[in-house]
Amino acid sequence: MSETRPQPETQTPSGDDKQRVYIRTYGCAMNEHDTQKLYKILEKDYTPVDSAEKADLVLVNTCSVREKPEQKLYSMLGEMKGLKESNPNLMIGVCGCVAQQEGQAILKKGRNVDFVFGTHNLSLVPSLIQLRKKGAPPQVAVNYREDWEELPLGFAENNPSKNGKSNNVTAFISISRGCNKSCTYCIVPTTRGPEVSRDINEIEREVKIAVHRGSKEIVLLGQTVNSYGLDLTPRISFVHLLDRIAAIDGVERIRFTSPHPQEIRKDFIECVSSNPKVCRHVHMPLQSGSDRILKLMNRNYRRSKYLKIIEDLKSRVPDMAITTDIIVGFPGETEEDFQQTLEVMDIVQFDLSYSFAFSARPGTAAAAMPELITQEEKLRRLQVLQAKQLLIMADRLSPWVGKTVDVLIDSTSKHDENCFQGRISQNTVVNFPAPFEGLKLGAIVPTLITAQKRYTLLGEPATAR
Ligand code: SF4
Repeated sequence: MSETRPQPETQTPSGDDKQRVYIRTYGCAMNEHDTQKLYKILEKDYTPVDSAEKADLVLVNTCSVREKPEQKLYSMLGEMKGLKESNPNLMIGVCGCVAQQEGQAILKKGRNVDFVFGTHNLSLVPSLIQLRKKGAPPQVAVNYREDWEELPLGFAENNPSKNGKSNNVTAFISISRGCNKSCTYCIVPTTRGPEVSRDINEIEREVKIAVHRGSKEIVLLGQTVNSYGLDLTPRISFVHLLDRIAAIDGVERIRFTSPHPQEIRKDFIECVSSNPKVCRHVHMPLQSGSDRILKLMNRNYRRSKYLKIIEDLKSRVPDMAITTDIIVGFPGETEEDFQQTLEVMDIVQFDLSYSFAFSARPGTAAAAMPELITQEEKLRRLQVLQAKQLLIMADRLSPWVGKTVDVLIDSTSKHDENCFQGRISQNTVVNFPAPFEGLKLGAIVPTLITAQKRYTLLGEPATAR
């Protein structure tokens, strides 16, 4: 594989010579990861900036799972009309799932777009830019291709951040791409293709490089991360991969997102509850607490299976954090179905939930289902669910106050560069409200939790008292 990788250039522009790139990212962790790949691909010629106004190149990394990001794409392209008028050299590219799905159609709707590229074509960006600079017409590149073969290693080094600043503490590593499931509301199998797992040695090598560059925490990414390896010959289990990564010196913490309940077996529960490097946090999408709706969604598990997994995890590790995704207002969802989702929330006590009102994505089976629920009703259900989640979160956070827990310092505060923030194993963010001595990126610090906020905790190093 490495033979096909491009060799590094010997000369790179100095910081002052570089142009400026701004990437707006919508959607899932996979998109965040692709954004980091793009920064890496472009770093030779472009410096990241924190707004479109300051940029020579703007990339919009889109998501098509929900309707809003697609609407946001077109409203953002509308806003950028003015920018392009004042800076005719500004170049605009669109990527991500909407780009993969819509391709040429984006050029028709967004006349200021210079190029569109799909989820398998990130490595083509420099050549698309060059083609446009040389006067070629707007470009579209959305074919499936073997991108991993062509991208240099080392994408894993960056900790995604909205403003383009990054550090090495957390490394995000794709272990598979695509999806073999067919949830009726989801376009991902169409836009990202069938599931393909990466070679385990290649993943291991990337982890080692990330650790060598200072990463302490590895986040494994896949649409259904725990079906990793089922397509390989010989088959490899996700748990085997976790064990291999945990055995690498220097890896302190391992996270992954997102496992599919259908693929969770005893060995998974055993591994996440006993391997000290695997964090005490499982993000497992529920989507609905009603079996009838799960069936309509083609989720391939039932509420009882989901709850049994949670029971097994929590009986092994009582303080295991469970987070989830929930869709309300799926076609045909009755009040009773919705109440069943709330009931599951009561039982599980999610530490966090990402909840969405259903919106039909063109090309999915759910888009052809009769829309029986008004937008108003969907939003009402969403508000009820989110209000409930806030109450649950307050209960989930309060037991941490007064305890001393290990926090991995992974970034600086959004508000003050001298203040740090980090995460406990359960993934809850801990902010250090003052610039304490001895804190530094990548350190794992025993921390006294002093207070809880709505979504986060406040702490101070235990040694500071
Ligand atoms: S598991 Fe379902 S929701 Fe997740 S990517 Fe695959 S089809 Fe989409």
